[in-house]
Amino acid sequence: HHHVDHATVDKVKAAIAAGHTHAHIPDYETYDKYKNTGGYAALLTLRDDGHWEDVQALIKESGLRGLGGAGFPSGTKWGFVRGNAGPRYLAVNGDEGEPGTFKDRYYLERTPHQFLEGMLIAAWAVEADRCYIYKRDEYPAVLEILRREIAALEQAGLVPEGYIELRRGAGAYICGEESAMIESIEGKRGLPRHRPPYVAQVGLFGQPTLVHNVETLHWITRICREGPEVLNTTEKNGRTGLRSYSVSGRVAKPGVYLLPAGSTITDIIEAAGGMLEGHVFKAYQPGGPSSGLLPASINDVPLDFDTLQPLGSFIGSAAVVVLSDQDSARAAALNMLRFFEDESCGQCTPCRVGCEKAVKLMQADTWDQPLLEELCVAMGDASICGLGQAAPNPIRLVIKHFSDEV
Ligand code: SF4
Repeated sequence: HHHVDHATVDKVKAAIAAGHTHAHIPDYETYDKYKNTGGYAALLTLRDDGHWEDVQALIKESGLRGLGGAGFPSGTKWGFVRGNAGPRYLAVNGDEGEPGTFKDRYYLERTPHQFLEGMLIAAWAVEADRCYIYKRDEYPAVLEILRREIAALEQAGLVPEGYIELRRGAGAYICGEESAMIESIEGKRGLPRHRPPYVAQVGLFGQPTLVHNVETLHWITRICREGPEVLNTTEKNGRTGLRSYSVSGRVAKPGVYLLPAGSTITDIIEAAGGMLEGHVFKAYQPGGPSSGLLPASINDVPLDFDTLQPLGSFIGSAAVVVLSDQDSARAAALNMLRFFEDESCGQCTPCRVGCEKAVKLMQADTWDQPLLEELCVAMGDASICGLGQAAPNPIRLVIKHFSDEV
């Protein structure tokens, strides 16, 4: 017997009738507001008499690297894409499917035009015929904001109608992998491609394609408007720049924190208000499940590109998940492998069968470590894309640092 709250039902019915079926749209900086504070002046100046190499030089000077996870120097791609005959395309990777990552959403729900201007600057730089924004459907507010603001750009005459296409992803993690994303935009199943050829040569519809992450484009605008100093003057622990850490788990204030790239896990937990009351810091996922788990004792390493590789991990998109004494490292690793098993696109055997086999082995009371290690070698060596290649990280790191649990 269910209790029916008629007041709520009526409210929902009224909302549907009024067309308010979308998520709550947060207060964000609209086109008018952005324009009034100098927005799009950088783009218009560049279009007028700018040289793409000058912008590329600025970006190199800033030290900006691809913030989708790969960390590739951002301006460098432009030359590769321009080196191939057009038509060329720009594809924005806004899939943000890495568990624990929500920084792109954070920026888009606040300052969407910093992203859109950066996209148009990059499109100008490579003379792109069209821009495709691939956005996960799980972000209805972001999609609505982008729809509205792209329309505002068309109305203002900044882009021809249809120049920016908004494409919705359907919830497949693998579609965040750039070549799978391109397949998905083309209307096919999101299967990662073999490389070479790279997407800069043969990308969308067989044409040279520039792929950037949402946050990367946000910073390209800021570099053009504020100079490379916006990034290259922050120094900490021998690292330069800033990182947007998405912090969740057992911290008092989960959220996105913009901190020096040299920040350690200690700094990041402190920024997030410390540990939740009653929880003792035990372990952390530094950059998505592919980065595995590190123990609390590794607390003096900057969480930046290149610093975690020697530890068998990496920063990826900086999705930091903090675990406490009330969490099991073993259960967390199993959860990560289950996720990979679910999300494997299935086109290569080491990943498809390997993830499934790993999950089975990790459910045993005692892990068969030599067998798991053999499996990890096969998956790492023979998988086509990063999903299968990095899936061994959680297994190896838990064996190494939490051996008492397995
Ligand atoms: Fe697909 Fe996994 Fe192979 Fe990547 S490694 S292509 S996800 S089967």
